[in-house]
Amino acid sequence: MSTKTESVEPRLRPRSERLDVLKQFFSHARRLWHDVAEGDWNDWRWQLKHRITTVEQLEKFLPTLTPEERAGALVAEARLALAVTPYFFTLIDPTDPDCPIRRQVIPRAEETHVAPYEMPDPCGEELHSPVPGLVHRYPDRVLLLVTDRCATYCRYCTRARLVSHGAQYDFHTRLEQQLDYIRNTKAVRDVLISGGDPLLLSEQRLAELLGRLRAIPHVELVRIGTRVPIFLPQRITDELCATLRRYHPLFISIHSNHPRELTIEARNALWRLADAGIPLGNQSVLLRGVNDDPVVLMAHMQKLLICRVKPYYLYQCDLVPGTSHFRVSVRKGIELMDALRGHTSGYAVPTYVIDAPGGGGKVPVGQDYVLSHDDYRLVLRNYEGKLFEYPESGAAEHTVTSSPELPTLCGTI
Ligand code: SF4
Repeated sequence: MSTKTESVEPRLRPRSERLDVLKQFFSHARRLWHDVAEGDWNDWRWQLKHRITTVEQLEKFLPTLTPEERAGALVAEARLALAVTPYFFTLIDPTDPDCPIRRQVIPRAEETHVAPYEMPDPCGEELHSPVPGLVHRYPDRVLLLVTDRCATYCRYCTRARLVSHGAQYDFHTRLEQQLDYIRNTKAVRDVLISGGDPLLLSEQRLAELLGRLRAIPHVELVRIGTRVPIFLPQRITDELCATLRRYHPLFISIHSNHPRELTIEARNALWRLADAGIPLGNQSVLLRGVNDDPVVLMAHMQKLLICRVKPYYLYQCDLVPGTSHFRVSVRKGIELMDALRGHTSGYAVPTYVIDAPGGGGKVPVGQDYVLSHDDYRLVLRNYEGKLFEYPESGAAEHTVTSSPELPTLCGTI
């Protein structure tokens, strides 16, 4: 196997230290799957078939498994299966028990602690499901859940109640009901296909799904939510891209949380999707010990742009049972956003949102940049904390009295 896991890691650590870490990654990765043929390693079906799914495999491939991780892995199945593709596994730093990649996918004992405010369906999706696997929460768009499988399972998954449990997911029966609902609900102009991960479906099945959605006249936009380009970039084949590009306008939202996930392989997969004319956005979850650091967060957002992906949302971690150890305070989340806004390209700044518990939908949260607002003027705070006045429309007919300490700045970019 050639080295597949070149990281384009940003300058988060001193160069010498970074090189040491990279050397460790590569030698570890080579040792693990050194006898795998190039063709196999680059085959997404091989990657899926050889996922790490048991405690025994974890112990074999990660000799530094901690007691907390071992305990978590032993009971993981009841909550959310353990499964990690070999490719993604090689991104784990085996020398670091707090490795941000490791934290996202290796179960821990803390998952068994359920806080009183946590709930199996934190976003109230079941409350807004008129037919199985379809969520209609906003006026003009629906969410379509088409599979319960993912390439790798994220320990904080909002849909842990649904994914990975091995039930036979009856794609066709559900699809008929879902399509009937969309056909009969003319307000639906935007369909988000999610799961599980839709890009694990075969090209044939995706073509059927997309083709039938496209045949509904009032469906203007189709979106796919996927973490496949990050967990299994081998899946983004020319054949898949050729299938997807037949159904424009088609958008894809990926899910990436840390700059180290954006390897050369992931970047190439994302570029292939972008070359197929698909606009790409990213949804991150704010996770303790993963991306709750201003340097990491900014590096991640900037690197997403290099991968031709626009950072779209940064989610406050949903109140999923067993995820308290991942949750960052909202106060800190707001501070992190403040460290981005104005300090890097606007394109690199996502919207920080809380999915309101029980089905309230996404609510943007953030620092208030409008400090006061009356009929005559607004007082604005910029990214440096400086204050500016802006006259309210029509205020020119009135006398605007400016505070001497506030420069009046109209039309400033
Ligand atoms: S890829 Fe998405 S649906 Fe699958 S486990 Fe991760 S968060 Fe959940």
